Amino acid sequence: MSNLLEVKNLQVSFQTFFGEVEAVRGISFNVEKGKTLAIVGESGCGKSVTAGSIMKLLPQPPVLYKGGEILFEGENLISKSEKEMNEYRGNKIAMIFQDPMTSLNPTMKIGKQIVEGLRRHKKMSSEEAHKKAIEMLELVAVPQADKRVNQYPHEFSGGMRQRVMIALAMSCNPSLLIADEPTTALDVTVQAQILDLMKDIQDKMGMSIILITHDLGIVADKADDVVVMYAGQIVEQGKTNDIFYNPKHPYTKNLLASVPRPDMKKDEPLYSIQGTPPDLYKPPMGCGFFDRCNEAMIVCENNMPVFSNHGNEHFSRCFLNHKLANKEV
Ligand code: SF4
Ligand code: MG
Repeated sequence: MSNLLEVKNLQVSFQTFFGEVEAVRGISFNVEKGKTLAIVGESGCGKSVTAGSIMKLLPQPPVLYKGGEILFEGENLISKSEKEMNEYRGNKIAMIFQDPMTSLNPTMKIGKQIVEGLRRHKKMSSEEAHKKAIEMLELVAVPQADKRVNQYPHEFSGGMRQRVMIALAMSCNPSLLIADEPTTALDVTVQAQILDLMKDIQDKMGMSIILITHDLGIVADKADDVVVMYAGQIVEQGKTNDIFYNPKHPYTKNLLASVPRPDMKKDEPLYSIQGTPPDLYKPPMGCGFFDRCNEAMIVCENNMPVFSNHGNEHFSRCFLNHKLANKEV
């Protein structure tokens, strides 16, 4: 299987009044054609910055691309101009967000919004584009698509609006769809429907998906590969089954423990990880998880753990998995 996207040692910082924040500290991962990669971690871990970097949608300045490459179909997006990026955005790479109102224009009928993209990127006539807009609404199961195509975003419920946003994102047949917490604001039932819908569309249209979420629970049957981020770094990555059944990093184990289980008793409290991630103004010299890790060793505080290879493209960044690990040191 070939890679659609290859992110290599990406480093992204923000210039702020108080100094530089090292939001993404040297991450590397691949997205295969037609597959789903989930990027999982708490808020502030760098996952949205990673997504924003791929689209080059982060404000410049203060964003500083300090190093690395984002290769999309072999082309480095980091070195593309704004004009060149506009040929990718909404065309080859599309993005959906937690709040559909950030992608939808509230003052424009939804059909018109879909038509605009198709006219610009696919050079369709108005009639062709209008027909395609209705087809896209039918694809995402919006009832009475031929009527609703002439309605405004506020005339749709939250779940329906999310479907409309997916229709808009998919209209130019992108090869990569980036979904940043697409279902966080929705109730559990609608959440499942939207994720199933994305999977259906992927089966039909064959795009790759980057699914960004803080909830490891929702990726189990939706992602092929998982990247776990913590404090701007990748701490574990691998095939979804290996991450779920053979997690190696204490942070991944903690995230898994925070996922509600079907056999939980009614008033059993949900596990939550104590403490907060480190401040990325002054990133720690050693393991970022040190302060919160119940397996921490002396070596972890001031030394950066390197990746250990567990086979089958499964890696973790923790001294416990180092071949010389010894808790007595
Ligand atoms: Fe815990 Fe040390 Fe592993 Fe970090 S390197 S996760 S502190 S055991
Ligand atoms: Mg985010």
